[in-house]
Amino acid sequence: MASLDTLDGPFLLMEEQTKKRIGKVYLVGAGPGDPGLITMRGRYLLERAEVVVYDYLASSKLLKFVPKEAQFVYAGKRGGVKHTHTQDEINQMLVDFALKGKIVVRLKGGDPFIFGRGGEEVETLAKNDIPFEVVPGVTSATAAATYAGIPITHRGYTASVAFLTGHEDPTKPTSDIDWAKIATGVGTIVVYMGIKNLPFITKSLIDNGRSPQTPVAVVRWASTPEQQSVVGTLETIPDIVRQAGIKPPALIVIGEVVNLRSSIDWFEKRPLFGKRIIVTRTRDQASELVAGLEEAGAHCYECSTINITPIESYEILDSELERLDEYHWLLFTSLNGVKYFFKRLYDKGMDARDLKGPDIAVVGKSTADLLLTFGVNADLIPSTFTGEGLAESLLDQGVEGRNILLLRAKSGREILPETLRGAGAQVTVAPVYQNIPPQGRKDELRAELESGTVDMVTFTSSSTVTNFLTMVDAKDKKELENLMDGVKIAAIGPITAKTVTDSGLHVDVQPEAYTIPEMIREIISFFQP
Ligand code: SAH
Repeated sequence: MASLDTLDGPFLLMEEQTKKRIGKVYLVGAGPGDPGLITMRGRYLLERAEVVVYDYLASSKLLKFVPKEAQFVYAGKRGGVKHTHTQDEINQMLVDFALKGKIVVRLKGGDPFIFGRGGEEVETLAKNDIPFEVVPGVTSATAAATYAGIPITHRGYTASVAFLTGHEDPTKPTSDIDWAKIATGVGTIVVYMGIKNLPFITKSLIDNGRSPQTPVAVVRWASTPEQQSVVGTLETIPDIVRQAGIKPPALIVIGEVVNLRSSIDWFEKRPLFGKRIIVTRTRDQASELVAGLEEAGAHCYECSTINITPIESYEILDSELERLDEYHWLLFTSLNGVKYFFKRLYDKGMDARDLKGPDIAVVGKSTADLLLTFGVNADLIPSTFTGEGLAESLLDQGVEGRNILLLRAKSGREILPETLRGAGAQVTVAPVYQNIPPQGRKDELRAELESGTVDMVTFTSSSTVTNFLTMVDAKDKKELENLMDGVKIAAIGPITAKTVTDSGLHVDVQPEAYTIPEMIREIISFFQP
């Protein structure tokens, strides 16, 4: 037999005699929920998977690392809900995929070997001579404690921890857990799968000598924006959990260390924790806004309201590219304008050197920054980042008799070209991309709004507003008002804000400078003045 692959190796194992390709199965710990908590090795393997078999508890956000051509298999396994596949079926499926020569990532919540039945899966693989590897993950016990502000051990409080399953049937005559020893024998006790049996668990500990006053925390969906936690004592926690309606998946952390939470709770104290924000955006826009809001603790629902695509014909741009020298100014009014302009420029065999003639003006700082990545420094950035602001700055420079080329979306506002023409400039508008409202996802968006859990919607351009309203598809003003009842609105600048107010809605947050970082700052201070 040939040797197993190395890190960069071909992931394949050849059986010398048969030359039959056998795949390999990687059991990968996905971590507790926050996709950022997967290991680098885990992500590396996801990026190379041909088949990924994933669980309910593995963050679906991790699937974006898997190549699109890969086969995705949902293995289910949600406590209390009918299993999509039985454990035997999953074991067999892994064997079958490997025998077909596939590189299989078996993505499991938390750590594969901690109450994850990973042991059974690899036993089956070993029995069938299937090569495998196991990549540990951050287990939910440590994540839940950490994200609830509880150091699972602390020199002043405890020197030992035990991980238990609370899934046992309490009516069984004997238990696999020696409650008498656990109750007083370890400092911190963390119980997985224990919500249903919580009264039995707390009673077993108290009956076996643990003080009823021992502090307890219960943490649901740890490390995700939906994290919810409650604190009590062994005596009070069953009632507290019942009243708070906490359901699985949740962990129970028991021990004196829980008291430290009051001073070091960090995750749930972030300024936007618990806020649900719909971020309307174009499909291929870099999600700086989402990243910033999530960093502050918000739960973002990304809603693409615009699909940016190339236009069918570049006739106008192509002929203007041949006479760039005749222009005094090139104007860029959006990031996409820059992106699609350069794409076409390169397609025509040209590059930044061909832009040495005209001066270049952009609508704002982000556009200038993007332009610089193409090797071109903007000559003019207006102090107000709007089409009007740009027109004003150009007028200050004097545009009479100047040749100006405006590179923008196919359908754009006419105010800029009109103002410039009014001041005596020759303006040619060359469309370089177009906005198309995306199909589908309408129902999802409406369901979000109807759920009544949305705290805010953000708009970063007028077209995100218009397309959002098209997608919401309210039959009249009253229905729109009902759907948006209690939902705050953030608009990046005055033009976007005007489109919002024109539709009868109210703008709650509008940054002074029309940039994403400013918008994030304003949203944070709106919710946490
Ligand atoms: N292998 C997993 C555990 C699987 S058992 C791990 O290492 O974390 C399933 C149990 O894990 C759930 O019932 C719950 O008790 C716990 N769990 C998993 N993810 C969780 C999360 N994000 N928040 C709270 N509990 C979680």
